[in-house]
Amino acid sequence: MLAPDRAEPAPAGRSPWILGASDLDVLVQALAGLGYRVLGPVARDGGIVIDEVRRAADLPVGLEDVQAPGRFRLERRDHGAYFAFTVGHVSWKQTFHVPVERLFQVRRSKEGFSVIPEPMPHQRVALLGARACDLHAIAIQDRILMQGAHADPRYAARRSDVFVVAVNCIRAGNTCFCVSMGTGPRAERGFDLALTELLDAGEHRFLVEVGSDAGAAVVAGMPVRPATPEEADAAARVSARTASSMGRELDTDGLKERLQQNLEHPRWDEVAERCLACTNCTLVCPTCFCTDVEDTTDLTGETAERTKRLDSCFTMGFSHVHGGSVRSSIKARYRQWLTHKLASWHDQFGSSGCVGCGRCITWCPVGIDITEEAAAVGRPEQRPETDG
Ligand code: SF4
Ligand code: SF4
Repeated sequence: MLAPDRAEPAPAGRSPWILGASDLDVLVQALAGLGYRVLGPVARDGGIVIDEVRRAADLPVGLEDVQAPGRFRLERRDHGAYFAFTVGHVSWKQTFHVPVERLFQVRRSKEGFSVIPEPMPHQRVALLGARACDLHAIAIQDRILMQGAHADPRYAARRSDVFVVAVNCIRAGNTCFCVSMGTGPRAERGFDLALTELLDAGEHRFLVEVGSDAGAAVVAGMPVRPATPEEADAAARVSARTASSMGRELDTDGLKERLQQNLEHPRWDEVAERCLACTNCTLVCPTCFCTDVEDTTDLTGETAERTKRLDSCFTMGFSHVHGGSVRSSIKARYRQWLTHKLASWHDQFGSSGCVGCGRCITWCPVGIDITEEAAAVGRPEQRPETDG
């Protein structure tokens, strides 16, 4: 699969197909038969995680998410849809930019030390149910971790053999704002196949778009029929309805400049009063990529190892340099996170660092909302009027 920002648009002339919902399992088995480990959304412990999908029935059938700042709940509906929820706290980040991994070991011997590198990872995975916002997040991480000055060969190895089945969202969550960020709700590129679930006219089916030769080869072996123009229109209407029902919006016009001109805005103090510096927002964010390395030795002193772990700019230790932490206050850390995401990310990586998935809003234990904070900081400060 090509990254969304490098992939060619879906080739012209590839007409969409219709796959009956009861045949979704044929797609799962076809991917498994090609040697892919199929990963997708699975309901677990009241949330949606990403795990191995062995059968279509493993998907969160009939479940919808109810999200709000600091709140997430799954509710059952009687529509039987496979993909009626939006996104859970887990993103595809864990599949490629794994949270914890050993990089090498060092062993002491009579002759001295020997360094044992960790074998390069290899995985052949199919992502089943990747949303448009998450495809953009993967593209952002690809730019940083595969094309930048500090490319990570272990990330590149995990990204080298991936088949993507995108799913166009059929409803928007209360904390979603992908339309504002230009990242959804419809997957435009970066997929091998894209599904739009149709539940109209008493018929449950998927409109299947083909985005690559690999996708076309998979469809060739499936029980599909050509989509009618009416079905293609119905899929377009589903995306339009989702786009018009976003739970949040963010005015990105001049936002970078507005944020960078307001680094002393009093709103930073207000949000710092609420922020717990718990790091949740960075851990659930599909684009946050910072890591640290940790060296440990065993009690005998014979073996040491270096481990890479996801880190967060909300910890005091993250910016610790000689003499102490550069950002010792929560105000400084929140300001750094938000202005990096929405402003200096543009300077550093050529795009916003936010794809509007809303995870940081939902999973913030005190319900801090990046769209509210960015809008408040970006507004001119209201000073009390004084006489004379
Ligand atoms: S900053 Fe928040 S809304 Fe934006 S991509 Fe990260 S988790 Fe999603
Ligand atoms: S903004 Fe919310 S999720 Fe992020 S560190 Fe502060 S309290 Fe935690």
